Amino acid sequence: MAVALLLCAAGLAQAQTADATAPGAELRVITRVVAPFVLKDAEGYKGFSVELWQAIAKELNRPFHFVEKGNVKEIIAGVKAGEGDAAIAAISVTAEREQQFDFSQPMFESGLQILARADQTGAAGAWSQILPLLTSTSTLTVLGLLAALIIVPAHIGWWVERRKENHLFPPQYFPGIFHAMYWATGAAAGQQPDPLYSGIGRLLSTLLILGSLFFTSYFTATITTSLTVQQLKSDINGPEDLPGRKVGTTTGSTAAAFLRGISVEPVEFSKIDDAFSALNAKNVDAVVFDAPVLLYYAANKGQGKVRLVGPMLKKENYGIMFPQGSELRKPVNEALLKLRENGTYDAIYAKWFGAQ
Ligand code: GLU
Repeated sequence: MAVALLLCAAGLAQAQTADATAPGAELRVITRVVAPFVLKDAEGYKGFSVELWQAIAKELNRPFHFVEKGNVKEIIAGVKAGEGDAAIAAISVTAEREQQFDFSQPMFESGLQILARADQTGAAGAWSQILPLLTSTSTLTVLGLLAALIIVPAHIGWWVERRKENHLFPPQYFPGIFHAMYWATGAAAGQQPDPLYSGIGRLLSTLLILGSLFFTSYFTATITTSLTVQQLKSDINGPEDLPGRKVGTTTGSTAAAFLRGISVEPVEFSKIDDAFSALNAKNVDAVVFDAPVLLYYAANKGQGKVRLVGPMLKKENYGIMFPQGSELRKPVNEALLKLRENGTYDAIYAKWFGAQ
């Protein structure tokens, strides 16, 4: 009985594999949403990979339906578990994946790139760095100190000197106080002040010169530290700036593997859109992912919010994935080449990425 059941199950499994490649059978195509390759709206699926697959299926004269997964890790697991006859989305061909699966001819040239917030560096972002610095507590302290070094000594100086014979300061409050402030500013900036007549005035001058020494070093130190901290926080100019930062990408992606390779433990999101939201909400400092996906976001929903950093970090090709030994690979490859030759591929490409 048990043997009979086993035989029966084996027969079924064989029948299923045979079915998938039998002409007319509905193909199960695993995919995942990743714009602009796969998008989903009320009317259904669209995008570069979706339209390319539709054209391939038409060439093969085969009906199909999509089986949607959450991320590339689930796509890989799905193909492995026999839940689909093929998988298409933005799947990079890698040596490791090639060991366990079959891939079509390359269907798209891609690669990894860094995406950062628009305000992080560059000329456009300069003001957003300087403004917080100007209003930061340390700057306010500097301004307060400056007031204490000029306004208070100017009043004391004017008061004790206003009736002295050398007429350094006029006796009336106006313009006397302005003369006194000019004198105090010079002293606070470290210049030799005009000698005051009274003992108190001379003591005041001495204190001011000493105070200015302290003030100058405090001011220089504060500005230098704030600028350095500000720069440390914001500049992402290449992969060398990524270690020690929070970097987002998608679960199980080649970008996640790349980041681990440069000692960055990525923050993994199932949907790339969630990584973009985290970048905008400052929950991550950068996103490393497939360049065409980043470009599409930067030119659409992310316009003005994000910027692409530097050149591609690594080139990759996308392919259609099959279970190992799939009989579908050869006809799909033939269809793909035909679509490249008859201009269909270029038309779909131009629709989603502009003319080549
Ligand atoms: N192209 C990348 C990969 O295959 C990302 C795919 C994705 O997140 O959909 O790993």
